[in-house]
Amino acid sequence: MAKARAMFAAEFFWPARSLLTGEISGNGGLLNASEFSAVTFVDRGCRLCARPLRDYYGAETDCVLCQGKPPVWDQARAAVVYYQISRPLILGLKYGGQRGALPIMANWMVQAARDLLVETDWLVPVPLHYTRLVKRGFNQAVWLAQPVATSAGTKLCIDGLVRSRATASQGGKTGKQRQQNVAGAFHVRPAKRRRLQRSVVTLVDDVLTTGSTVAACAGALKKAGVRKVNVLVFARVVTDKHNPI
Ligand SMILES: [Zn+2]
Repeated sequence: MAKARAMFAAEFFWPARSLLTGEISGNGGLLNASEFSAVTFVDRGCRLCARPLRDYYGAETDCVLCQGKPPVWDQARAAVVYYQISRPLILGLKYGGQRGALPIMANWMVQAARDLLVETDWLVPVPLHYTRLVKRGFNQAVWLAQPVATSAGTKLCIDGLVRSRATASQGGKTGKQRQQNVAGAFHVRPAKRRRLQRSVVTLVDDVLTTGSTVAACAGALKKAGVRKVNVLVFARVVTDKHNPI
């Protein structure tokens, strides 16, 4: 009762505001009703790459691209499609250091990956190179992995992977160029090798685009003896939201 009264008072003095517009949300949440309804959740994604699957896949779980060439990692889950609402949440986090959306983003990620989190021994965030970390001051993948770990009760190995080579931004590059850009850029931190060996790791990142970065990370983890590597991201980029494969 006292808690409910305190929450009512808090809402009166500090009403919840939309993370996107800063206006009072009106429902005590971090997004107003129209923003929430515009979020495209990945309700049914490809088991291997998390691309949303269209209805004609029937009972199939893997998209045509993965059936042709399975990824280096084992399975992937994404909470939302990278679009309208999810884009400003990610850009705000990545370039503005805005942590306000983290609880909601992490919550959606946990919902999307319940089955994978159950079998996960370690959550490992995709690392930034030291120079970029110093420049930015934080790693958004770590920021996402922390509340996911807390919420799911999964252990977190923040520095399991090292980005040993500074790479150019992946933006504006083709799939092949992205692959070459990150080839050999990651390795398992020697001090964490024994801990991760024979375990099931779920890599955490903000966005999954062509998958070159997580593929390079997964390759490094498997080379170090990790048994299984899953991928969990907040948003999945699809070429056309209205025409997923
Ligand atoms: Zn797929």
